[in-house]
Amino acid sequence: MIRLLILGATGSIGTTCLEAIRNGLAPMVEVVGLTAASSPALPRLSSGFSAKGRYIDGSDREALSAFIDETDPDIILNAISGAAGLPATLAAIESGRSIALANKESVVMGGRFMLSEARKHGSRIIPVDSEHSAIYHLLRGHSARRLIITASGGPFRDREDTSGVTIEEALHHPTWKMGRKITIDSATLANKGLEVMEASLLFGFPSDSIRVVIHPQSVVHSMIETAEGGVYALMSPPDMTLPILSAIAGEGQGLEDIVRPLPFDEGFSLSFQPWSPERFPMLALAYEAAAAGGSYRIAYSRADEIAVGAFLDGRIPFNGIRDVVKEVLDGGFSFHEPESYEEVQEADRIAAERAYRLC
Ligand code: NAD
Ligand code: MG
Repeated sequence: MIRLLILGATGSIGTTCLEAIRNGLAPMVEVVGLTAASSPALPRLSSGFSAKGRYIDGSDREALSAFIDETDPDIILNAISGAAGLPATLAAIESGRSIALANKESVVMGGRFMLSEARKHGSRIIPVDSEHSAIYHLLRGHSARRLIITASGGPFRDREDTSGVTIEEALHHPTWKMGRKITIDSATLANKGLEVMEASLLFGFPSDSIRVVIHPQSVVHSMIETAEGGVYALMSPPDMTLPILSAIAGEGQGLEDIVRPLPFDEGFSLSFQPWSPERFPMLALAYEAAAAGGSYRIAYSRADEIAVGAFLDGRIPFNGIRDVVKEVLDGGFSFHEPESYEEVQEADRIAAERAYRLC
């Protein structure tokens, strides 16, 4: 049996995973522990799985380390949202356990420092984000010169003027049902920006060799392009159950019928179109931040998170999100790729201070 600890178990990723296990889709997985920030659903979920449940803030590394020791998992699913996922990832790394990593912010913010800690402690990181899960599996069979990440385009793919966008409109994603922060990030395409940075770090590709393409059906999860010019794609219906369970169970571990087969008998169409920097300035800013280096990635992620929170609280308009992030990045940073957790925290602190001042 694979002993599984889920951090952020009450959210969209956490409950998707638990529901799949409850439905018998991963009989080789035993849930041993669950954490959440404050959700009242935690006691019910943990007693349903005879697992230990604990309220632990992602930033409380000591409490997380103690809970990892207590539950003794083989693999830890980090499904916490936002920057609080980084200290949680670091606690998981320190334990030397494998990590099924949904929390993309911890890759973007922890960057090379976090990845070198993972190597040092022998902790394996397996991506859960659907695009990265696809690329991870594709790169196991082929070498590539370019990565092609797909984006649904979100609810405003064809809307020119986003100045009057309401919270409700922005929370209405056409193909995926997810937590609030990532849903807003999918409307601005900041999510895709974070994913370009995530892919660049996880797979060692410079950001200018990672292309984003709009693909409204969310069936092709991402692609790799070989030196010869061929392209391999991974396709499945838009359902996070597959990338979550394949990260936890590993390959060849007997997962079967996790998602419906694609409806080739009925026929369906797939389309692809380029994205425009004018319509999606947050993605353009992400490429700039990725090229500028570590502190800029941290600032992009942190400022975006604070601005998204302010938008959801009704304090700034939808287009205010990009204004805040741009201004925080324009403030500049004196150092580039953080080499310690203290340096990561320093860039994070400066970015947060600037962003809060603007929201
Ligand atoms: P969510 O908001 O639905 O759930 C977040 C979970 O984290 C909850 O259990 C909450 O209690 C916990 N949490 C929040 N703040 C915390 C804190 N400070 N300390 C400890 N726990 C805290 O989020 P989600 O949509 O499930 O996304 C989780 C992560 O997975 C994000 O990083 C997101 O980008 C990534 N992701 C999500 C999806 C998706 O389909 N939802 C897809 C790909 C990647
Ligand atoms: Mg994704």
